Amino acid sequence: MTKVNSSPLILNGRTVANEVHKQIKDEMKQIVRENKRIPGLAVVLVGEDPASYTYVKNKEKACIELGLHSEVYRLPTNITEPELIKLIYSLNNNTNIDGILVQLPLPKHINTEKLLEQINPTKDVDGLHPYNLGNLLSGKGYLKPCTPQGVIEILKHYSINLKNKSAVVIGRSTLVGKPLALLLLEENVTVTIAHSKTNNLDKVSREADILICAAGKPKLVKRNWVKSESVVIDVGINKITENGVSKLVGDVDYDEVSAVCQAITPVPGGVGPVTIAMLMANTLKAYKRNNN
Ligand code: NAP
Repeated sequence: MTKVNSSPLILNGRTVANEVHKQIKDEMKQIVRENKRIPGLAVVLVGEDPASYTYVKNKEKACIELGLHSEVYRLPTNITEPELIKLIYSLNNNTNIDGILVQLPLPKHINTEKLLEQINPTKDVDGLHPYNLGNLLSGKGYLKPCTPQGVIEILKHYSINLKNKSAVVIGRSTLVGKPLALLLLEENVTVTIAHSKTNNLDKVSREADILICAAGKPKLVKRNWVKSESVVIDVGINKITENGVSKLVGDVDYDEVSAVCQAITPVPGGVGPVTIAMLMANTLKAYKRNNN
């Protein structure tokens, strides 16, 4: 049975992001003081997807706020793969650019894996190049995927004890689920990865000390999927229409689950802002390594 807990700890992603931003701002002050080149991030957006458009705007805004050099390439849906690859090569050779991010998803006629492999791994601030994913697997990751890093950052910010805990990660994408499982393993968490073919997902989830959902299914996780001591991290961002009103919700039924768990991230204002903060941190990291 789950106990009723009317006031869980809200894991505020904006607070965590501000903390990361503060450290970046301090380092940026030093860079400016020493009259060094400013770190630069290039974001490539293909097509008109409104959600992608908003994510890219937020990344650009964060760069400006922190004083990073920002270049955004907004390209038409019908751009060809060779044209995109040519752009990636020019960014690889651009000495003002330390980080390259291709906003996903890409239109169907572009081979995403092939394109991501063209990014110089030292500028791969999304951490999705096979070189960086391979290093992550062997525990030597340098540029790690931003959302999984953001989840760990939230857990650490709120001093959530990870050692000897069990986690269930719902979702096994290369972007979120799999790299997150690896990062949790590095923290000595015992990890289960669940997916759309997992049987009795409610029962599996209920075993978790830390339940992380990255399935892209609105309000998938219900009250009876969590135990009362659990920490719930909701990675999902889903646009739904409820009573004629369009709004963003996570993969967790927040009203139900927040009544029983110990701690929970809201959507919006949870993992999202920290993901962007980690992108900024990765850009600075790439800059420092490339300048040394
Ligand atoms: P994805 O590539 O579509 O992967 C979804 C994963 O969830 C798959 O492994 C899938 O299983 C699993 N899944 C789908 N339905 C399920 C169900 N009913 N039960 C159990 N597992 C299920 O998505 P993604 O890129 O990882 O993103 C996941 C969500 O996170 C999306 O809502 C996305 O918008 C959000 N997101 C948020 C941030 C952020 O900054 N907050 C960043 C990235 C993504 P199979 O492998 O079996 O198909």
